[in-house]
Amino acid sequence: MMAAAIANPSVSIQDLSLNFGVMSVLKTLNLDVAEGEFIVLLGPSGCGKSTLLNCIAGLLDISEGRIFIKGKNVTWEEPKDRGIGMVFQSYALYPQMTVEKNLSFGLRVAGVPKEEIAKRIARAAEILQIEPLLQRKPSALSGGQRQRVAIGRALVRDVDVFLFDEPLSNLDAKLRSELRVEIKLLHRRLQNTMIYVTHDQIEAMTLADRIAVMKGGVIQQLDAPQTIYNRPVNRFVAGFLGSPA
Ligand code: ADP
Ligand code: MG
Repeated sequence: MMAAAIANPSVSIQDLSLNFGVMSVLKTLNLDVAEGEFIVLLGPSGCGKSTLLNCIAGLLDISEGRIFIKGKNVTWEEPKDRGIGMVFQSYALYPQMTVEKNLSFGLRVAGVPKEEIAKRIARAAEILQIEPLLQRKPSALSGGQRQRVAIGRALVRDVDVFLFDEPLSNLDAKLRSELRVEIKLLHRRLQNTMIYVTHDQIEAMTLADRIAVMKGGVIQQLDAPQTIYNRPVNRFVAGFLGSPA
């Protein structure tokens, strides 16, 4: 079944294949993400979710295919020129820098004027409620606070497309559900395009506009959460979502 084409997709992945040596990890994959859409890539460990995200980010060279972001072919663009912000599972904050420096570092490197940097940091700190933490070092933050700062680093880049790779999987259950709500609110407020990787079904069901269920480097089904839950296309999808089919 072909999904209806999306006019002017924010991110368009066309016939993307990626091999590590002789191992085929992504197999002629196609995915169009609408402007402002929250897409979750859901699947078991090793199915290729992070690899796909890293291809979109430009951190891996693809074997075949093309990637468009906002209509522009970015297949061979540097990561920094793709107009994306990325948040990883490990917090990847600079331990020797304060939160404020962590937020400003990339912008200073990119030559963004000082006043503009200050403005963007103030806005991100307000949205993520990390104003009181700006002068602390990462070692003085809780796991949840660190992950807020990591999201802040994507936020200050002022891009329309965010890529999140299991941002909550190192957190305990309570924090995970709190931050899940925050990410949902953040998306409502910013209306940005979000591609969010997880192996957590609840995260996928609560966050996604559409879920792409992956297995073995192939998207098995791409649909709204309720459709995936009520009408899984195969046993794998049914089993993975825990629905009765
Ligand atoms: P996921 O994020 O869904 O858990 P990954 O995208 O990390 O899965 O990995 C997909 C497959 O590619 C796995 O079989 C993994 O072992 C393999 N893989 C990932 N990165 C590399 C690499 N740099 N070199 C070789 N194989 C890799
Ligand atoms: Mg992964």
